[in-house]
Amino acid sequence: MSRLPQAAWWTVRRAQNRKPASYRCPICGGHLPSFSEHLLIAPEGDLARRRHAHTQCVLKARQRGELLLEDESAHGQPKPPKLWQRLLARLR
Ligand SMILES: [Zn+2]
Repeated sequence: MSRLPQAAWWTVRRAQNRKPASYRCPICGGHLPSFSEHLLIAPEGDLARRRHAHTQCVLKARQRGELLLEDESAHGQPKPPKLWQRLLARLR
Protein backbone atom coordinates (compact mmCIF):
# COMPACT_ATOMS: atom_id res chain seq x y z
CA MET A 1 0.00 0.00 0.00
CA SER A 2 2.76 2.38 0.91
CA ARG A 3 4.94 3.52 -1.97
CA LEU A 4 7.88 4.35 0.20
CA PRO A 5 11.29 3.06 -0.82
CA GLN A 6 12.87 0.58 1.54
CA ALA A 7 15.01 2.20 4.18
CA ALA A 8 16.24 1.08 7.58
CA TRP A 9 15.35 4.43 9.08
CA TRP A 10 14.18 7.87 8.13
CA THR A 11 14.95 11.44 8.94
CA VAL A 12 11.76 13.43 9.42
CA ARG A 13 11.54 17.17 9.69
CA ARG A 14 8.91 19.78 9.34
CA ALA A 15 8.68 21.47 5.99
CA GLN A 16 6.92 24.52 4.75
CA ASN A 17 6.64 25.22 1.06
CA ARG A 18 8.24 28.53 0.38
CA LYS A 19 7.67 28.48 -3.35
CA PRO A 20 4.60 27.56 -5.35
CA ALA A 21 5.77 24.07 -6.16
CA SER A 22 3.51 21.08 -5.87
CA TYR A 23 4.57 17.72 -4.63
CA ARG A 24 3.19 14.22 -4.61
CA CYS A 25 3.06 12.42 -1.30
CA PRO A 26 5.10 9.19 -1.57
CA ILE A 27 2.85 7.42 0.94
CA CYS A 28 -0.64 7.97 -0.51
CA GLY A 29 0.35 9.20 -3.96
CA GLY A 30 -1.86 12.23 -3.44
CA HIS A 31 -1.24 15.87 -4.17
CA LEU A 32 0.41 18.13 -1.65
CA PRO A 33 -0.96 21.64 -2.02
CA SER A 34 1.46 24.54 -2.20
CA PHE A 35 2.18 26.32 1.03
CA SER A 36 0.60 23.62 3.15
CA GLU A 37 2.37 22.48 6.23
CA HIS A 38 3.78 19.01 5.78
CA LEU A 39 6.80 16.88 6.57
CA LEU A 40 10.04 16.15 4.78
CA ILE A 41 11.18 12.56 4.99
CA ALA A 42 14.61 11.36 3.90
CA PRO A 43 15.71 7.70 3.78
CA GLU A 44 18.63 7.07 6.10
CA GLY A 45 19.36 10.76 6.34
CA ASP A 46 19.98 11.07 2.60
CA LEU A 47 18.54 14.51 1.99
CA ALA A 48 19.17 14.20 -1.74
CA ARG A 49 16.37 11.62 -1.74
CA ARG A 50 14.06 13.54 0.57
CA ARG A 51 10.36 13.51 -0.17
CA HIS A 52 7.52 15.75 0.84
CA ALA A 53 4.72 13.88 2.60
CA HIS A 54 1.42 14.68 4.28
CA THR A 55 1.76 14.91 8.04
CA GLN A 56 -1.26 12.61 8.44
CA CYS A 57 0.23 10.02 6.08
CA VAL A 58 3.51 10.00 7.98
CA LEU A 59 1.68 9.56 11.27
CA LYS A 60 -0.42 6.73 9.83
CA ALA A 61 2.67 5.03 8.42
CA ARG A 62 4.26 5.28 11.84
CA GLN A 63 1.19 3.69 13.37
CA ARG A 64 1.62 0.81 10.93
CA GLY A 65 5.19 0.43 12.16
CA GLU A 66 6.78 1.94 9.07
CA LEU A 67 9.07 4.95 8.94
CA LEU A 68 11.34 4.08 11.83
CA LEU A 69 13.42 6.97 13.03
CA GLU A 70 17.16 6.73 13.45
CA ASP A 71 16.82 6.59 17.22
CA GLU A 72 14.42 3.70 17.04
CA SER A 73 16.47 1.58 14.69
CA ALA A 74 19.83 2.28 16.34
CA HIS A 75 18.74 1.51 19.88
CA GLY A 76 16.26 -1.17 20.80
CA GLN A 77 14.12 1.20 22.82
CA PRO A 78 11.66 3.25 20.81
CA LYS A 79 11.52 6.70 22.26
CA PRO A 80 9.31 9.10 20.32
CA PRO A 81 10.97 12.45 19.88
CA LYS A 82 9.16 15.56 20.97
CA LEU A 83 8.17 16.31 17.40
CA TRP A 84 5.82 13.33 17.38
CA GLN A 85 4.25 14.22 20.65
CA ARG A 86 3.62 17.74 19.41
CA LEU A 87 2.17 16.57 16.11
CA LEU A 88 -0.05 13.95 17.70
CA ALA A 89 -1.29 16.43 20.29
CA ARG A 90 -2.23 18.86 17.55
CA LEU A 91 -4.23 16.27 15.61
CA ARG A 92 -6.39 15.25 18.54
ZN1 LIG B 1 -0.23 11.50 1.69
